[in-house]
Amino acid sequence: MSDLGRRAVVIGGGITGLSAAFEFHRAGWTVDVYEASNRWGGKILTSPVGDQPEAPVVDAGPDAVLMRADAGRELVDQLGLTDEMTHPIAPKPAYLFLDGRLHVLPSGTVLGVPVDPAALDHTNLISDAGKERAAGDLTMPPTDLTEDVTIGTLCRERLGDELTDRLIDPLVGGINASNIDRLSLQAAAPLLAQAMTEHGSLIRGLGKMYPHIGAALGGDRGDRTDNAGDRRAERPPVFFSLERGVGRLIEALVDALPANGLHLGHPIDALAGIPDPSTVDAIVVATPARAAAALLGDVPAVVAHLVDFPYATVSQATVIIPGQPPLDAAGILFPRVGGTMLTASTWLSSKWPQYRFDDGALIRLTSGRYGDEHTANMSDDILAATLLDELNRAVPLVAEPSAVRIQRWPSALPHYEPGHLDRIAEVREGVLRRHPRIRLAGAVYDGIGIPACIAGGRQAARELLT
Ligand SMILES: Cc1cc2nc3c(=O)[nH]c(=O)nc-3n(C[C@H](O)[C@H](O)[C@H](O)COP(=O)(O)OP(=O)(O)OC[C@H]3O[C@@H](n4cnc5c(N)ncnc54)[C@H](O)[C@@H]3O)c2cc1C
Repeated sequence: MSDLGRRAVVIGGGITGLSAAFEFHRAGWTVDVYEASNRWGGKILTSPVGDQPEAPVVDAGPDAVLMRADAGRELVDQLGLTDEMTHPIAPKPAYLFLDGRLHVLPSGTVLGVPVDPAALDHTNLISDAGKERAAGDLTMPPTDLTEDVTIGTLCRERLGDELTDRLIDPLVGGINASNIDRLSLQAAAPLLAQAMTEHGSLIRGLGKMYPHIGAALGGDRGDRTDNAGDRRAERPPVFFSLERGVGRLIEALVDALPANGLHLGHPIDALAGIPDPSTVDAIVVATPARAAAALLGDVPAVVAHLVDFPYATVSQATVIIPGQPPLDAAGILFPRVGGTMLTASTWLSSKWPQYRFDDGALIRLTSGRYGDEHTANMSDDILAATLLDELNRAVPLVAEPSAVRIQRWPSALPHYEPGHLDRIAEVREGVLRRHPRIRLAGAVYDGIGIPACIAGGRQAARELLT
């Protein structure tokens, strides 16, 4: 490696790799980004639904970026996209389909955990006995969390099985395409761990950490939770997107980088395969785990923890249903205990202003949980028919879809098992010791959300810049 400190290589052109490259570029370094596939963005993809020339161009992967995390908003500002930001159309209820009927998701909860027992007063999603059991969390002695456990272990102990299976698993398990009895508390739900360690109770802890949610609940107590929309509308938006979808973020990042450093269709399978290696001062590896393991196979912790790193596979069908939308909702969750393949339906045309539709509904149907490859092996036609049939049981659809887009995401989301954070620390330490000028970044190490990936990519570059 030269002493000039001026040339960086980034391997992987998803949001993490492009964010790292952006950081190097801003610091005046030359940067080469190598991407194995023929498009930028990795899991971020915005593409047409249907093959008509006027087909709507819609997010096929992530559609929502968390506002609360600074890294996403900061990047949007730096890329000059602030005026293109959009927020979910408020107030749109989200539902959960269980026991053959739709239930409005109760407001006053965080990750499905009530910030006050009163948040469950007006829902019949949970029985009276289940509500009483959940409130027991307030009077139990604190749970010792010195060791990482599954989210399910903590929630079942503190709140009981009913709330855990019917509300927390659909939300938290759904976000992670997994089930909370296999997910690390520290890695996948650090908020719950924080509530318990700092406040000795999940309900009390979240109530203190999110006082505005509890305060809004004060007004909800006298009415049905599905009439809480006015108060929801007053709160700052939780998510953002962009007028042309989340894929616009990738487009703008690529535009901000010098074209001669962007190499599509160029996998790097070994460090020795990097062009002009003697001029490289810093490398960020921003690929999924297995590709990283192939690159860094001389680090024992990488071999031990990344070669067989577990992932969930996700398959999606995005459909246009013509006519009057059968439901005006942000989406419907389908809990694991309900036994459907469908895990969620996102009503994109009701949720986002950029996907508003004059005549019909644009709905994304998601399937796939960690350990279940069932939908991955189905043909496109059977997948679409099965998911539509399951949706039809929750909301009778009046018409056949006029367009269907199938999107497969093999190795969609890294699966964080208990002890994940310790294993990642070990991997990073091992890489640092053997390759001081290489950093690993991305969803496996930094968190699955887009802001976490952006922050991880930029942080990796910053460490190498110094
Ligand atoms: C269906 C779905 C919905 C999601 N929804 C949301 C959401 O609403 N909000 C949210 O915040 N997050 C969401 N996520 C998560 C988020 O999109 C991802 O965690 C994030 O985009 C991962 O980015 P990454 O750059 O770390 O990895 P990736 O996007 O996987 O990028 C890695 C890149 O490395 C490339 N690569 C692999 N091997 C090599 C090699 N040898 N050489 C060169 N390149 C290589 C790959 O082709 C890929 O482009 C969703 C994910 C999925 C799958």
